Amino acid sequence: MNINRNYLNLHDSYLFSLIGKKVNEYKRQNPEKEVISLGIGDVTLPLPAAVTEAMSKAVSEMGNAATFRGYGEEQGYGFLRKAISGYYEKKGVDLDEKEIFVSDGAKSDLGNILDIFDVNNTVIIPDPVYPVYVDTNIMAGRKIVFIDGSAENGFLPMPDEGLYGDIVYICSPNNPTGAVYTKEQLKKWVDWALAREAVILFDSAYEAFIQDENLPTSIYQIDGAKYCAIEFCSFSKTAGFTGTRCGYTVVPKELERNGVSLNKLWLRRQTTKFNGVSYIVQRGAEAVFSKEGFKQVKKNINYYLENARIITEVLSQAGIWYTGGNNSPYIWLKCPDNMSSWEFFDVLLDKYNIVGTPGVGFGNNGEGFFRLTAFANRDIVLKAVERIRNGFSRF
Ligand code: PLP
Repeated sequence: MNINRNYLNLHDSYLFSLIGKKVNEYKRQNPEKEVISLGIGDVTLPLPAAVTEAMSKAVSEMGNAATFRGYGEEQGYGFLRKAISGYYEKKGVDLDEKEIFVSDGAKSDLGNILDIFDVNNTVIIPDPVYPVYVDTNIMAGRKIVFIDGSAENGFLPMPDEGLYGDIVYICSPNNPTGAVYTKEQLKKWVDWALAREAVILFDSAYEAFIQDENLPTSIYQIDGAKYCAIEFCSFSKTAGFTGTRCGYTVVPKELERNGVSLNKLWLRRQTTKFNGVSYIVQRGAEAVFSKEGFKQVKKNINYYLENARIITEVLSQAGIWYTGGNNSPYIWLKCPDNMSSWEFFDVLLDKYNIVGTPGVGFGNNGEGFFRLTAFANRDIVLKAVERIRNGFSRF
């Protein structure tokens, strides 16, 4: 008997536990101080009323013999896949419902998709980025090539002639940097993938935050993408489903490698290892696309984006370099005075009693940078901004 030794190559995920430890210690030593957080990547607004109403109705249906449902369609109920394809139609993207797979969230699918790829594939991952891409590939023992995000390229790394790899992750809008690829930039990635027969894993979990109509919200808005890309999306940050759990993955029928349809492989994988998302949750997700649901979701997103605007305004006034915050809930700033990520974390905590996330936790290129999120309640954001404003001279 042998364990999967690849797990021993994982770095301890100490980022959030170390943050928690430092914050608890500070609170213990300074019980009179009010510590506030702009560090969380979780939503704070409750589910929209249209969603909870739809879920309540579905609960009642489940308690009635005439409307009770057992196992559902493994790919997701037709009503939800139809609503999702209607949403894509508005983006100018034509999707067959068979290309949409409903799941319990993007994180699971991003990890599970690796089942359908050979372990000897080389994987390209931007640095910094959402750590799940790195860890899931380390677990599988795949070779990882990092591509550098930096202030110079706006944290949007691009392919060059010499870039070799079989699978590439693209996260736009990006967690943690908030940077968003343009259509022209994504076209270069699509052309690169088509030329090398690579596959793009496109994470659009934050697409609903994009306000600029010229920016792409789906990779399928780019010509040729259906031949080289799988897209992962989620109701988590869009509609407050972080605790309710629902997302979806799009695997186009056109996407083939080694003469095999990836849609068929993923269908086989999902029907073997996954039994679907609860009917109640899928009815809630369907309501996100109703007229009322859409309005309510938009209101919540605008609330978070206004938080981001308030935070970036004070950073601009302080002369601090940042990216993100206008088409994304994340603000990625350069630590002032050339401080390291953890040094700045300590200063923010000690002097201003504000908690954020050290950029180095998202990759080596995150060193010297810092992530703030716009997911807090407005009163917390205003308090944080006031503290930063009063501390201008320190920066
Ligand atoms: N993708 C990115 C870039 C994320 O930041 C997150 C969550 O923070 C996810 C995916 C996971 O989303 P879900 O809640 O749908 O699993």
